[in-house]
Amino acid sequence: MRRSQSSFPALILTLLALGGFGALVMYKAPSQPLLQPVVPTEVLPATSGNSWQEVLQAGFGDNSTPLPTVAIPTEAFVAPTLVSSGDTNAIPLGPSEIEVNPFATATPFSPSTPTLPPPTAAVVSTGAPVTAQAVTRQPVAWQPPPLVAPLSRDALGRDHYWFQRPVDSDATNYGLFYYPFGSDGPNEENVWRIHHGIDMPNPVGQTVRAAGSGTVIWAGDGVYQNSPSYGTVVVIEHDFGYRGEPLYTIYAHLSAALVPRGVYVNAGDVIALVGETGLVSGPHVHFEVRVNDNHYRSTYNPVLWMVPYVGHGVIAGRVVDAFGDLVSDADVTVKRWSTGLIHDTTTTYVLQDNELDVRSDPVWGENFVVGDVPVGRYEIIANIRGERVSKIIDVYEGTTAFVEISPVQPATAQPVDNDE
Ligand SMILES: [Zn+2]
Repeated sequence: MRRSQSSFPALILTLLALGGFGALVMYKAPSQPLLQPVVPTEVLPATSGNSWQEVLQAGFGDNSTPLPTVAIPTEAFVAPTLVSSGDTNAIPLGPSEIEVNPFATATPFSPSTPTLPPPTAAVVSTGAPVTAQAVTRQPVAWQPPPLVAPLSRDALGRDHYWFQRPVDSDATNYGLFYYPFGSDGPNEENVWRIHHGIDMPNPVGQTVRAAGSGTVIWAGDGVYQNSPSYGTVVVIEHDFGYRGEPLYTIYAHLSAALVPRGVYVNAGDVIALVGETGLVSGPHVHFEVRVNDNHYRSTYNPVLWMVPYVGHGVIAGRVVDAFGDLVSDADVTVKRWSTGLIHDTTTTYVLQDNELDVRSDPVWGENFVVGDVPVGRYEIIANIRGERVSKIIDVYEGTTAFVEISPVQPATAQPVDNDE
């Protein structure tokens, strides 16, 4: 009895102790895996300072893919601007005259043509005569970097963005919008010669670079291929072709050719300086792409060959009549679908059924191209002999978005608004 009396609290204590231990075991059991230390089997060089790599390493062990360590910029990005050449003949531009969007507003510059009318639209309103030196002094709005050439992201391999642009990213390195490839200029009454290239207005002395690797087959001034129009010219025959045909690029109106004939150049090598030689009214580089034949009749739209910017694509299309024939000189408007605002305008190639016509791309068969289009959805509107036809397309980075616009096809767009 005494024994039992004295053993009762001992039993309670024992039960409490066991219960406590049990509770401790039950409490510790689920947390035990969390307390197991993660022991890395090896230290990968790429993991330093990269906590996500440790997570991957813990989850997948040696099969985890090392993540690159990207340095975080410590300074705010500053957009590049054109460096002043220091000459004092230029007319200073007021802030209101600086274009905000270089792809959507006019650059007051007159491209090459022997019978140039003075530019009437979108000329700076200083009241003083506009010189080319002045208008090309405009700070260039920030442009995203180009993608890396050669580039062909199209699943069917139709794209051939094999060239880089012939001028630097902080220069004007897109074609003058109002005189695009295949165009006869903006003035219906006083048409210019049909444009076989694109013009990039830049100050005299701006460096011109090889769009791709190859051999310089012409570098000089005077008459090139029986024409004085080109001024000082460099021509490269590339060491890569297109579908078995040779490829050429041409850089015209230069102030100096910096490479001799016969020399081999790599993509991006400085080959010349921008000038205003030949038949021009302002300094620019005229850039041509020729396929198969180094001849005026073998020029193709360079915008389908120059690698797009990051975040941008290209629209190419065919504007045809009810019989499926390409319509010349039709107005094409590119509207951003999300805002309804006009992004860009162009005209279809002027084709005259002669040997000197510009050429449509062998893959696309297009008669208009709009480059430097930010990715997104667009409505493409064509005026086909008075009839308004439109289609909706999506533009993806680094690829060509193709559209055929025909009056016999039902438009995928909203009902046509005839008030415009
Ligand atoms: Zn030109």
